[in-house]
Amino acid sequence: MKPNPHTEKKESAIRLIAWEITRNCNLSCMHCRASATLGPYTGELDTRACLRLLDQIAETGTPIIILTGQVQV
Ligand code: SF4
Repeated sequence: MKPNPHTEKKESAIRLIAWEITRNCNLSCMHCRASATLGPYTGELDTRACLRLLDQIAETGTPIIILTGQVQV
């Protein structure tokens, strides 16, 4: 029997991740939708946790990842 493409169960996979890494920013643009200012902000992931999350995402597939946020160095 030929599979019906309209009823066949498709494997769900993450295809796109938009990740605002931090709200920290050393600028203060009036139009900023993130209301970014210098933090620190609670609840943001540190570098190690960010890298661990990226590894976990890679285990699930190869989604497009859009990273935003300005990190001070
Ligand atoms: S995050 Fe972008 S828009 Fe917001 S204050 Fe910083 S540079 Fe400006």
